[in-house]
Amino acid sequence: MPTVTVLGTSAALPAHGRHLSATLVQWGARTVLLDCGEGTQFRLMDAGVSAARLDLVCLTHWHGDHAFGLPGLLSTVALQGRTAPLVLAGPDGLAEALNAWPGIHLDGLPFSLDLRLWPHDGCRATDGRFDVWKDETLVVTARPLDHRVPTMGYRLEDAPRPGNLDADKARALGVTDFRDFRRLKAGHDVTTPEGKRVRSTDVVTPRPPPRAFAYALDTAPCDGARLLARNADLVLHDATFSDEWTARAAETGHSTARQAAEVAAAAGAKRLLLTHFSARHERSAPLVAEARSVFLNTDAAEELCPYVLD
Ligand SMILES: [Zn+2]
Ligand SMILES: [Zn+2]
Repeated sequence: MPTVTVLGTSAALPAHGRHLSATLVQWGARTVLLDCGEGTQFRLMDAGVSAARLDLVCLTHWHGDHAFGLPGLLSTVALQGRTAPLVLAGPDGLAEALNAWPGIHLDGLPFSLDLRLWPHDGCRATDGRFDVWKDETLVVTARPLDHRVPTMGYRLEDAPRPGNLDADKARALGVTDFRDFRRLKAGHDVTTPEGKRVRSTDVVTPRPPPRAFAYALDTAPCDGARLLARNADLVLHDATFSDEWTARAAETGHSTARQAAEVAAAAGAKRLLLTHFSARHERSAPLVAEARSVFLNTDAAEELCPYVLD
């Protein structure tokens, strides 16, 4: 089952035992890291996951609390002798920024970095959608958010999955060739050796809806976040401030907990987790209460707690 582990729930100023933004997602055989605040490599160890196992790292934006862990993480992975390519998604200019760090030279790494750099124009040519990753189990897309610098959020979802084939029923209808079983499962109708037509829909259940996880920070409430969160099983959304600080949230390109809940409700999401808490808020309970008045299935993200999408 896809599992989301939030490694850090703090806004830029870490406080109250919270760590900086980073979230680990395990989706089938794939391991994805969303954001990489300072200290993320230690948080991965706390979660029991080796950085060498990462397939994909996605940065939301080039603010330190989301990105300063990246040079250290890349150095560690290099020291571990990784040779498999690593896919890295983030803002245009990421390669130059990394190369400017002392001790990091992308050409000198023992593995290749496959950079997926989203353009600064908010991907206007594709209506805001940026395709990051697609394989037989996982699809990752990005969309622009509303922050002070170019920022993208991410959506991870199942690649289209076939329905379940009732092989006994297919056999009873006269299907004998194993290739025909495969065709039926793939959605094609077949003809048996006796010339009888068997429809895929007669023996295969409808395709299950894709499971989806949306990651929307840092951001003010916006269409990009709503699109990422559409019908998602789980949404992790910026909830930097309580209601009292609504004006401050707007000034700084962040959301209140209530605004995060409004996004989840408008998107038809199933569950909301709040994160990126300001150091002003020692306790997250009041923010959760504000959010629940709009969207009941809300919790404060708990660091290192595995959230399973089933
Ligand atoms: Zn931040
Ligand atoms: Zn930021």
